[in-house]
Amino acid sequence: MRDRIGFFGGTFDPVHNGHLRLAENALTECGLRQVVFIPAATPPHKSLENLTPFSQRVEMLNEALQGRQEFVCSTVEAELPAPTYTVDTLRYLRKRYAPDTGLFFLTGLDAFLEITTWREYRELLRLASFIVSERDGEHYARQKNKLADLIGYFPQGRIWFGKDGAQPVFFLAGLPLALSSSMIRQRVRQNVSIRGMVPDGVYRYIEKYQIYRMKDA
Ligand code: ATP
Repeated sequence: MRDRIGFFGGTFDPVHNGHLRLAENALTECGLRQVVFIPAATPPHKSLENLTPFSQRVEMLNEALQGRQEFVCSTVEAELPAPTYTVDTLRYLRKRYAPDTGLFFLTGLDAFLEITTWREYRELLRLASFIVSERDGEHYARQKNKLADLIGYFPQGRIWFGKDGAQPVFFLAGLPLALSSSMIRQRVRQNVSIRGMVPDGVYRYIEKYQIYRMKDA
């Protein structure tokens, strides 16, 4: 089987067990060799002011991924011109892998449902196969069907098939965890425990550097 690499973009502010669950499900269900977590350095859609510094988000990711050979963190987006769009990152990565390597891009359904707002999304759908996780146990069946129609995909069970070079989209069977980074930031601000929602190393890191204490969600 040809090599398959997953890329997981996000702000990861902070990385939490919901992200890890998605990566784990994608690895197993789609036969990936590796999942590369790519924290956004200057995301076009989020205000930088409220964002934890890139270096700290990377350190938290490294804590979370420790001991898992299949999971790595890449700081590639800090090296690319800002703001970084996923299509540019994937174009850059495409050149760095053998031509027969299958590239996969991991997202939650909330993010995927917005795909038509992403820069050059048609090109994006040609560059990588999306792997999509449901979020919070919801299925959004109607929005999904509408989107498939809009972007010209043909759903067949968990796989959507594209045309004109668009790669298939895979919907994971594995259930998501009902967690989000904003929920975690809010809990820290309100002094409510986040133990068990993030890996232990991330928990300790947030405590040590007092992250999220004073920030808006
Ligand atoms: P925020 O609450 O700040 O918006 P987030 O928890 O959604 O953050 P991001 O770093 O913005 O985290 O998300 C990166 C990707 O991970 C997105 O595609 C998002 O849909 C997905 N994701 C985040 N949390 C989960 C979860 N619990 N289950 C499945 N996918 C998730």
